[in-house]
Amino acid sequence: MEQKLITIAIDGHSSCGKSTMAKALARRIGYAYIDTGAMYRAVTLYCLEHDMIKGDEVNKPRLRRHMPKIEITFQVNAEGKSETYLNGRNVEHEIRGMEVSNKVSLVSAIGFVRRAMVAQQQAMGRNKGIVMDGRDIGTVVFPDAELKVFVTASAEVRAQRRYQELQSKGDTSTTFEEVLANVVERDRIDSTRKESPLRQAPDALLLDNSHLTLDEQDQWLYEEFVQRTKG
Ligand code: C5P
Repeated sequence: MEQKLITIAIDGHSSCGKSTMAKALARRIGYAYIDTGAMYRAVTLYCLEHDMIKGDEVNKPRLRRHMPKIEITFQVNAEGKSETYLNGRNVEHEIRGMEVSNKVSLVSAIGFVRRAMVAQQQAMGRNKGIVMDGRDIGTVVFPDAELKVFVTASAEVRAQRRYQELQSKGDTSTTFEEVLANVVERDRIDSTRKESPLRQAPDALLLDNSHLTLDEQDQWLYEEFVQRTKG
């Protein structure tokens, strides 16, 4: 019998390991994976490259005019990893740096940016069989998703993980304190913005992974998936 395809929405705080667990599940069950944070990061990189951000101000009229020219796609590389492309250019590395991290919450709070991204995300998930991670997937993008998870962990644990990730990628100029401040500030902006603030959907499962190993959380998520797809 054919397995029924479902939609899986993984939301949560910044740097809580959502992408890691979403990716691992997608690989294990043969679903597509979409990192929606990468899409907001790519728009932010575009704004930075076109000089549209001054301090905490985004030039919204200009960005609005440019929106139709911003094309974000994903391509799987030779190692099987999905990478983000901005207008045909691989920007996977640049969108993860602190420059983008420090401005992305300003850009993602803009209504017309969100509407454009949400429309693309809904199109990508039209046929189900998808794992999507972000902030508003279970609340706005796919409110009918069969499996919704809201992931969190203490700010210190999250900053530590992100710091280690940056170090392992060769970024030795960013301090732990800077990463912690960025994590806390992004949470603040993401949860207090007017447009689709970060919040747990009423029917989402809450997962605090502060004290879980990667294997433990992967197995937990897999079992929740199996529950929802058995005939
Ligand atoms: O997931 P990641 O930390 O890469 O996301 C970067 C930023 O993009 C978040 O801090 C948030 O401001 C924004 N975002 C969002 N909605 C999503 C995914 C990300 O607003 N669905």
